Amino acid sequence: MNDSQKVRFSYEFFPPRSSEMERRLWRAMGQLERLQPEFFSMTYGALGSAQQISVDSALAMRRESPVAVAAHLTCAAAAADQVMRVARAFHDGGVRRIVALRGDAVDDDPGSGGYAYASAVELVTALVDELDDIDISVAAYPEGHPQSRSGLDDLRHLQRKFDAGANRAITQYFFDADCYLRFRDRALAFGIDNPVIPGILPIHDLDKVRQFSQRCGASVPRHYGPMFERLQGDTQACYRLSVELATSLCERLLREGVDHFHFYTLNQTDMCLDISLALGARFNSTRISSAA
Ligand code: FAD
Repeated sequence: MNDSQKVRFSYEFFPPRSSEMERRLWRAMGQLERLQPEFFSMTYGALGSAQQISVDSALAMRRESPVAVAAHLTCAAAAADQVMRVARAFHDGGVRRIVALRGDAVDDDPGSGGYAYASAVELVTALVDELDDIDISVAAYPEGHPQSRSGLDDLRHLQRKFDAGANRAITQYFFDADCYLRFRDRALAFGIDNPVIPGILPIHDLDKVRQFSQRCGASVPRHYGPMFERLQGDTQACYRLSVELATSLCERLLREGVDHFHFYTLNQTDMCLDISLALGARFNSTRISSAA
């Protein structure tokens, strides 16, 4: 990488559920903020209590970190006024970036008078209508969303989210660069010219990644299994392999003009740090000033 200045990074965290997890999260953020990332994002829980922790965590992040914060917000099986109350709490707390998602219904209760069973399009529309100065990211699926009827349908749906006011999309993770690049080409050919930022998941635990991937429709290359098995549980060697795989995936994308990577950190920073540094990120010793 010659021109490291142009590469941008963002890092996604999930809300901590214990004080130990909370300590780990703040440590992780402290390390990553020295790379001057574009933003940190905080995922949104599927249930009431988890949602409150998400809100508190995103707002705390905004207060404590100089890095811009993007709060995820879902609308499935929730009443409209409840969703907008949360959006306003983010806005009032200085969080001006939202990752607007439908989410997945956790039971059969569609909620009342809300966005239940609708899509992220309605949420984006409501956010743009009701909040000033708001920056919106949405989800995109290079391998298709599990509920998508076709690749074309998926693109039409993504286009509707941009038409409603979304600024960029962040993709579901993928392990095959061509899969993302084909999706980017198809999106461009369809007329989508908003940024579609690749979501990168470093592999901490291949079995867990395989399980989760089945649910979210991402595919894990078959040859990863033997590659990790050959290392026979050697933690350090597995770590190095994961860093190597993610770095070479990103390097390929860099060569294809990608200039922003969004990392699913799982609140563990070591791999994300190593990969970001390998891609040209540099530590900054001066504390950056606060951003919304
Ligand atoms: P939508 O964009 O509304 O729809 C998803 C797909 O359904 C579309 O791509 C399309 O294939 C199909 N679809 C829906 N409506 C239509 C329609 N009218 N016509 C045609 N097709 C349609 N989940 C959480 O609970 N919390 C989080 O914090 C969270 N963060 C995420 C961050 C990223 C970057 C990604 C990629 C996913 C995240 N998710 C999160 C998961 C997400 O909530 C699920 O994937 C959910 O199933 C879909 O949400 P969406 O916003 O993509 O939905």
